[in-house]
Amino acid sequence: MFIGHFALGFAAKRAVPQVSLAVLFGAAQLADLIWPVLVAAGIEQVRIDPGNTASTPLDFVSYPYSHSLVMLAVWGALLGWICARATPGRRVFGIVFALVLSHWVLDVVTHRPDMPLFFGGPKLGLGLWNYPAIEKAIEAGMYAAGVWVYLGATSARDAAGRWGLLALAAFLFVGFLASSAPPPSVTALWATAFGLGLLILVWAHWADQHRSHA
Ligand SMILES: [Zn+2]
Repeated sequence: MFIGHFALGFAAKRAVPQVSLAVLFGAAQLADLIWPVLVAAGIEQVRIDPGNTASTPLDFVSYPYSHSLVMLAVWGALLGWICARATPGRRVFGIVFALVLSHWVLDVVTHRPDMPLFFGGPKLGLGLWNYPAIEKAIEAGMYAAGVWVYLGATSARDAAGRWGLLALAAFLFVGFLASSAPPPSVTALWATAFGLGLLILVWAHWADQHRSHA
């Protein structure tokens, strides 16, 4: 899943408006932010494999640190604790923790059975990626709903808040629609994943700063 994760990040703004959209995105996408670093370090493995599912040319050989349920609970508790200290609020820990875990749930729905419960544990996956039309429709619907909730919970203070946010929302949607051609190499894959991941966080923080949540 791709923009379905961002949909939850957008929607979470209503529950914890004092938390930056970049943090909410970072929580929902934490698994995919840790993953390229671990692939680059050789700790997790991915193989370019056109046709692995109808929607993705990647074989996620092993990623227990970034994508197992147990480790995401650990990462979620850690990030939740840091966020609750940085931005006090009753719901901050719970929302951030839930967002980090939600990545696992949504990935289990779309991936083939490659999502580990724990190190060496059973792997789950319902394989919705093999039904691209249904998968795309569900993700697009989630995304529209998430952006809608965010726009209702915040308002633009200036042009950067209005157009910067809409441009970000459009950028993510175009990335989602773009066909997932096989990357030229695993190095290109992790470098792109990491670079784009960071760009989206910086962009989200900037646009969100230019919106108020009264
Ligand atoms: Zn993922």
